[in-house]
Amino acid sequence: MTTAFALDASTARAEALAWLGEVFVRSLIEDPKREAWLTLVAAAGVPPVALLVAPEEPLGPAARRVEEFGTRRAAGEPLSRIVGTREFWGLKLEISPEVLDPRPETETIVEASLRLLEDRGEEPLRVLDLGVGSGALLCALLAEFPHARGIGVDISAGAADVARRNVEACGLLGRAEIRIGDWTEGLEGPFDLIVSNPPYVSRDDLSTLPREVSSFDPRLALDGGIDGLEAYRRILPEARRLLFAGASLLVEVDANQAADVLALANRCGFADAATVKDLAGRDRVVAARAPA
Ligand code: GLN
Repeated sequence: MTTAFALDASTARAEALAWLGEVFVRSLIEDPKREAWLTLVAAAGVPPVALLVAPEEPLGPAARRVEEFGTRRAAGEPLSRIVGTREFWGLKLEISPEVLDPRPETETIVEASLRLLEDRGEEPLRVLDLGVGSGALLCALLAEFPHARGIGVDISAGAADVARRNVEACGLLGRAEIRIGDWTEGLEGPFDLIVSNPPYVSRDDLSTLPREVSSFDPRLALDGGIDGLEAYRRILPEARRLLFAGASLLVEVDANQAADVLALANRCGFADAATVKDLAGRDRVVAARAPA
């Protein structure tokens, strides 16, 4: 490179947008125009409407940040990781390298929980989130069920720290407990709802993940063992034991694992095992009830 920086304080917003778009096209970033727009909004710290009404406005001191964010995004880092936050179920959550970046499809678990417990929103429910990560599911559920209390467990101390900070930032500290632990070890039931987005990527699929995932989500949150089902084999029998009669378990799955996880739920003595589709129409969640 002949110049140290591609952008400076006098660069217009529209020029910066064009630069980001070109860099992203060259780096094979999917949907480069949209990503350029999102990156500029995040880095310049201006509302999207400002870019529309005043595209000629210079970046000013934000130029360094626009360039830094653009360079990192071009290397595959998701914007949520660059910014350090992610919105989930309308909550703004902190993420760190030690937690899975919560995906919108995981909101399927929250929606299904609302349907399952629709008449019980005023009750003092007990909720358990296995592999709590950033705390996304636990925070969303406790926010939706104002009388619920919850436990979130993660084997990663770093993840547990992030979950604790998110619980606190969401004003849920009084109703949530974050523990470091190996799945259900040491936990006592019964619970009204158990949820989990466990690691479920198979050994073969781990090597073919997009760089946005493989280089930035922690392997511990992805690696589901040889066939991707190891976590379910640990979680399902234990969840069966820890649920009230008639209470539900909801686990995220990859669509191609749904049949295996359904079969496992049936073998573990669950009733009414069924899949729930995400907004893209793919099987995303397996729901099962402890028999009444
Ligand atoms: N959804 C992640 C992916 O994109 C996997 C998350 C998980 O293993 N729980 O592959």
